[in-house]
Amino acid sequence: MALRSTSAAAGPAGSLVSGDVRRHNLSIVARYVVDHGASSRSQIADGAGLTRGSVTALASLLLDAGVLREDAPQDSRGKGRPLTLLHLAADDVAILALQLDADEVTAVVATLSGEPLLRIAEHHGRPMGAPEPILDLMASVLGRALDACAGLGRRLVDSTVVVFAPVGGTPPVVVADTDLGWGRVDVLAGLRAREPRTPPSMRLLPDSVLAAQAELGLLEDGRDMVYIKSNSGIGGAIIVDGTVVAGAHDVAGALGHLPLVPGGEQCGCGQRGCLVTVSGPDAVLRAAGLGRLLESDGLSAALDELVSRILAGEQHASAAWNDAAEWIARALQVLAMALDPRVIVLGGYWAPLADSIAESFAQNRPAAVPGDPWIGTAVVPGRLDRDAALLGALWSARDRLLLDPLQIST
Ligand SMILES: [Zn+2]
Repeated sequence: MALRSTSAAAGPAGSLVSGDVRRHNLSIVARYVVDHGASSRSQIADGAGLTRGSVTALASLLLDAGVLREDAPQDSRGKGRPLTLLHLAADDVAILALQLDADEVTAVVATLSGEPLLRIAEHHGRPMGAPEPILDLMASVLGRALDACAGLGRRLVDSTVVVFAPVGGTPPVVVADTDLGWGRVDVLAGLRAREPRTPPSMRLLPDSVLAAQAELGLLEDGRDMVYIKSNSGIGGAIIVDGTVVAGAHDVAGALGHLPLVPGGEQCGCGQRGCLVTVSGPDAVLRAAGLGRLLESDGLSAALDELVSRILAGEQHASAAWNDAAEWIARALQVLAMALDPRVIVLGGYWAPLADSIAESFAQNRPAAVPGDPWIGTAVVPGRLDRDAALLGALWSARDRLLLDPLQIST
């Protein structure tokens, strides 16, 4: 809903209100053009619920700041005045996401609207328990991305490091990364020590929260959701009323460590019988007879092979998956009763296997009460494949910048 500037906003106390209203309305205009593509001033006014006069004034500020540009008037074939369309400009800026997963370091430089301009990916060989060589590679990939960004004539206005691990503290650090055998690692300080151009405002965020936010943005009614995914390890995020639940110790959503199996295997987190010990990718790959492929070709390639074998009905892969899916379904049943989310979204390599998890999930749910039908939680596949977290980083940077669009030009 658009805020309108009113005469009540005048005066010393009102000038701040007026500035907030103007920033909010600038954000609405820029956001409209990002969401709907090139638009005329009257389309924006009608679509965003602003007056045409205020859209003209707001657009003028955004044009002066270089956030928008306008094309030459189009011939409107005699119907009123020629139509001038406003486009997102910001051709001189870029946003960056640098991602570390269990296989690779990936950098993506994108436009303000989140369209990738370039991508650099390097395998790190998964040296367990050794952050130093991985930080060296991350800094080198970051340096190449910064060079490429400068080569494109673009100034970096937002950057995020995405890690497949929980993040906590101030300044934020990786709390522990069981995929790489890390304890507490200050990734941002490690990058700054190696690459002096590391942006001071660079963020460090966990992949599961970013992936969850990206998937949430694609849902019709995205307010309450549990996101759970597996690519390296098992991670997740709980979103209640549009907000990610962090918990008292920043570990809410670490769903791979739901301790489900009584007296089960010791987990890296210190508990026994965690979900990841029975349904994590390493456990499933080994049970499916793909342990050697995991060692030789890396996790992503081994998981691709696992999924194709399961979908083809291969005996060992299917048996390993059925065992894993039963534990995953049990975890989802517990989460559904604890949180009653509208939807549980399955990401990573579980997305193409979502039907089998949903089927197992449905086998132990409360019965419908006659006349008071049980509104069941839906279990659905994610739509963003393995780039969900990278896209989440780029889209959330875009959303953050568009909240105050004039900051982009400074
Ligand atoms: Zn655990």
